[in-house]
Amino acid sequence: MKKIILTGDRPTGPLHLGHYIGSLRNRVALQNEYQQFVMIADVQALTDNAENPEKIRQNILEVALDYLAVGIDPKISTFFIQSMLPEIAELTMFYLNLVTIARLERNPTVKDEIKNKDFARNIPAGFLMYPVSQAADITIFNANLVPVGHDQLPMIEQTVEIVRKFNLLYGEIFIEPQALVPKEGGRLPGVDGKAKMSKSLGNAIYLGDAADVVTKKIMNMFTDPNHLRISDPGTVEGNVVFTYLDIFDPNKEELEELKAHYRRGGLGDVTIKRRLNDLLQAVLQPIRTQREMYANDKEAVLAILEDGTKAAREVAVATMRKVKKVMRIDYFASL
Ligand code: ATP
Ligand code: MG
Repeated sequence: MKKIILTGDRPTGPLHLGHYIGSLRNRVALQNEYQQFVMIADVQALTDNAENPEKIRQNILEVALDYLAVGIDPKISTFFIQSMLPEIAELTMFYLNLVTIARLERNPTVKDEIKNKDFARNIPAGFLMYPVSQAADITIFNANLVPVGHDQLPMIEQTVEIVRKFNLLYGEIFIEPQALVPKEGGRLPGVDGKAKMSKSLGNAIYLGDAADVVTKKIMNMFTDPNHLRISDPGTVEGNVVFTYLDIFDPNKEELEELKAHYRRGGLGDVTIKRRLNDLLQAVLQPIRTQREMYANDKEAVLAILEDGTKAAREVAVATMRKVKKVMRIDYFASL
């Protein structure tokens, strides 16, 4: 039997280069070896978008298009929509009893996101507890592996804690999942130099962006604010163009020479940006073409989501039967 992968994305916008590097590439690489469930996390997206359900609905299709565009194959991977598996919400309720509020408030990713989102003191309770819901997403499939970006490591840690506690209290039915973070690009910075490219921060290069839009974003990229004239010595660390080149440039030797040149002065931002532009266009062009093809057949994409959701739900229902049995709340066989 194949090992299981669960991953997902919030339908808060189309997917970007950070997703590609952080998680999508791994999903494509692993989909033959593992049984893979790919979740569009609309319930989680609503935790900080409750006032905007239409946005979440629209982006479900966008995210599905991105999956197909990068090459996640719906014949071997199962795509599904989170809210259509109410069993996940049910399991979340049981898990909430195994977690303290103090522990949730200590979660570093949640802390960061609270800071970025201007909630001030009005943090939705659902937002604070979304790591618990994520534990339910992962464990309802008994996933072994979760390919994610760096920001998600604290979530997997919290999932493992919940699994241990559940197994100890009720019976050993869940596997402790492992995160899979890429060696390079586990956290791709935004084009503005912020630590993370994110749909919500407006600093992303989207997988579906037109070629000229990509070029424009690269030409406006954050570099070294003190590198004013070409002849000035420049800084490579924290310079987004070089961070991206480290990930996307296969010619490491030439890249090291460019870095040395930039540090001593005499190498302009435009030169390195053009180099990055060529490399990124080559990565994005085939993805864009595939995306356009699927966008022309939305019915087919919706059918993929519907079929996948049905298949995923069967797994979730079976797991909940086991959960209720070990929790001693399986009162009636007929219900
Ligand atoms: P939002 O701003 O709405 O939270 P997001 O851009 O953070 O959106 P998510 O849907 O929260 O995207 O993340 C989905 C997956 O993509 C997660 O595994 C996450 O770690 C990964 N990911 C997101 N942004 C990046 C990034 N900049 N670099 C690497 N991985 C990323
Ligand atoms: Mg996020």
